[in-house]
Amino acid sequence: MDTNYYSPTHLVDPAVIPQQPQDLIQEWSLRNLTLATMTTEDTVKFMAQRKLLANSSTCEACNRLRTIHQNPAKTDTIIWECPNRQCRSRKSIRGGSIFSESQLSLVQLLTFMSCWAEEYPLSQCNKESGGMAEHTQTHWGLMWRGLCEDWLIAHSSQIGRITLDNNHNIVPKIMEIDESCYMKSKRSYH
Ligand SMILES: [Zn+2]
Repeated sequence: MDTNYYSPTHLVDPAVIPQQPQDLIQEWSLRNLTLATMTTEDTVKFMAQRKLLANSSTCEACNRLRTIHQNPAKTDTIIWECPNRQCRSRKSIRGGSIFSESQLSLVQLLTFMSCWAEEYPLSQCNKESGGMAEHTQTHWGLMWRGLCEDWLIAHSSQIGRITLDNNHNIVPKIMEIDESCYMKSKRSYH
């Protein structure tokens, strides 16, 4: 168990994870993001707090919460493991996340994602995040674009430029969906 995490079974305190979508809307400069993710541990906590990684893992066979185990040989440095001695099933902390199939470090993926949301050219997203193969850069560019498009289609009745009122509630303004809306919305939904 790594004592730097919240508990043996949770990466961060569940109370710090926003429940409302509007509370996940945040502005991060690249510099502040870098400062907040200086270590792998910082990065894991940052991502768990923003629902980019699951905060806990349940062993389906035993119906028990897995615990955090050091796994220094692996990029993420920790892994989930079932506490049942007869089971000991393991799962990557990326399990079930969009990052589960990637070999890149979480901080690299997070940096790339942030640069993409800032509308940097893909080559610059690649450079700022530490470098990756061109086909990997293309894969992640298409991935984020596809996810945003899926979300926009699923929420098509509410699509508009989102603004926040004084109580930080989302105030959607309905607008007609067309190509230009998709482009505006990409900028709106960081
Ligand atoms: Zn188990």
